[in-house]
Amino acid sequence: METVQTKSGKEIEQDKAIPFAAHHKFLIVGGGTGGITVAAQIMKKLKNTDVAIIEPSEVHYYQPMWTFNAAGILKKERSKRLMNDVIPKDVVWIRDRVTTFHPEKNLVKTAGDDFYSYEYLIVAPGIQVDWDAIPGLAGNLGKHGICSIYCYRHIDYVEECIKNTKNGNALFTQPNTKFKCGGAPQKIMYLASDIWKRNGILDQINVQFTTAGSVIFGVKEVAEALKPVIARYSIEPKLLHNLKAIKAEEKIAVYDIFKDGKPVDEVEIPYEMLHVTPPQSSPDFIKRSPISDAEGWVDVNMHTMQHNQYPNIFSLGDAGSTPNAKTGAAIRKQSRVVTGNLFSLEKNGHIDENLIYDGYGSCPLITGIGKLILAEFGYENKMSPSFPFNQMKERWTMYHMKKDLLPIMYWHGMLKGRA
Ligand SMILES: Cc1cc2nc3c(=O)[nH]c(=O)nc-3n(C[C@H](O)[C@H](O)[C@H](O)COP(=O)(O)OP(=O)(O)OC[C@H]3O[C@@H](n4cnc5c(N)ncnc54)[C@H](O)[C@@H]3O)c2cc1C
Repeated sequence: METVQTKSGKEIEQDKAIPFAAHHKFLIVGGGTGGITVAAQIMKKLKNTDVAIIEPSEVHYYQPMWTFNAAGILKKERSKRLMNDVIPKDVVWIRDRVTTFHPEKNLVKTAGDDFYSYEYLIVAPGIQVDWDAIPGLAGNLGKHGICSIYCYRHIDYVEECIKNTKNGNALFTQPNTKFKCGGAPQKIMYLASDIWKRNGILDQINVQFTTAGSVIFGVKEVAEALKPVIARYSIEPKLLHNLKAIKAEEKIAVYDIFKDGKPVDEVEIPYEMLHVTPPQSSPDFIKRSPISDAEGWVDVNMHTMQHNQYPNIFSLGDAGSTPNAKTGAAIRKQSRVVTGNLFSLEKNGHIDENLIYDGYGSCPLITGIGKLILAEFGYENKMSPSFPFNQMKERWTMYHMKKDLLPIMYWHGMLKGRA
C-alpha cells in the first residue's frame, strides 16, 4: 500500500500493484433498494448489456415494512426475499463486499482481494447503523426493555416490549445524526400508543418522545398536523434530548440536553421500555474512500446524482450526499435520474440536462392502526403532494396504501425497473 493524495486533497491508501481485474460495463455497489432498482431499469432498457452487482448479503429487505412487523401487524418474514430472487435475470451477482475505490483507474477492490473494473460505477451501499456509538446499547439490544425497529433480528422484541409495558416510562429516541426514514421513530411510537390505548392502559404509561431535534418534525405543515396526534396519546415531547448512554441493568437512559448547539446539561430517565433509533452515518469504507465528501457521503451533485469529480460515477440512496430525507421513496425518483443520465452519457457523451432530482422524499407517517398522514416534500422541505386532497389529514385509505399496496409496488414494480 502507498499513501496518495486525491483531487480534493484527501490522503488515502492505494494498492501499489493492481493485478487482473474482471470488467463490467455497469458495476453496482450494493444490492439494496437503490442498487436493484437501477440494475432493473438498465436491463429493461438496454436488454443485452453487461451489469454486475457487488453485494455480500444473501437477503434483501423491504425495510419500510419493519414498523408494521414490530407492531405485530404483519409477519416480519414478509419484509425479506432471497437476494438471488431480486437480482434481475442476466445481472451478475458478485457475492463480496467492496473495501476500496480506485476511481482514477476505474477499479474497485473487494474484501476477497479481487479487483473489478467498470465503465460506469453506481454506488448504493446504504447507511451504516452505529450501534456502538451509544455505550450500553449494542450488547443490550433485545433485552432489559431496549428495542429497535432498525434491526431485523430484534424486531420481535419490539412487539414483546409493547406487550410487556403496562406502566412507567416508554421512551422513544431520535438521534442527532442523519438517519433513514425521518418518521420511523415516531411511527412506532404512535402504533405502540394506539395499542396501549386500545388495551385501556395508556393512562398508566408515560410516553415520551426524546429527540435531539429542536422540532417534532422538520416540515412545518407536518409538525402542525402531528400536534393533535401527540395530544391524543398524551405524549410528552422532550426536544434537544440526545441519548448518550444506557445503564441497561438499572433501566436508565442518559441524555445530553442541548442549547445553542452545545450540551449544557445531563439527565437520567428511568424507563420500562426504551425504543432506540440509533445514530447512523456513511459506511466506513465510503468515509475513507476518495469518492466521499467532507462528511463522508458519496460526493454527488444534488440534482444530477453524478459524482462531483468522476463523471462515470453515480450514487443514489442513503449513502449519497444529496440533502434529501433518506427514504426508499427518494430512490424511486433518484433512480430515473441516474439511469437517464447513464443512457445519455452512453449515447451522447454527456448527461441529460433536463433530468433533475428535486429532493423528493416521502414519509408515510402511521399515526395509529388504520391512520396515516402522507408527508411528501422536496428540497428545503417544500411540500410536494401527489394527491388532490389534504394529505395532512389522517386517512384510512393512505394507511392501507402503505400497508398493502406499497409492498406490492416495491417487489413487482420498483425492483422490476418500473419505478
Ligand atoms: C425502520 C425503517 C422504516 C423505514 N420506512 C420507510 C418508509 O416508510 N418509506 C420509505 O420510503 N423509506 C423507508 N425507510 C428507508 C428505506 O428503507 C431506505 O432509505 C432504503 O432502503 C435505502 O436504500 P439503499 O439502497 O440506499 O440502501 P439499502 O436498501 O439499505 O441497501 C444497501 C445494500 O448495500 C449492501 N452493502 C453494504 N456495504 C456494502 C459493501 N461494502 N459492498 C457491497 N455492498 C454493500 C448492503 O448489504 C445492502 O444490501 C425505512 C427504513 C427503516 C430502517
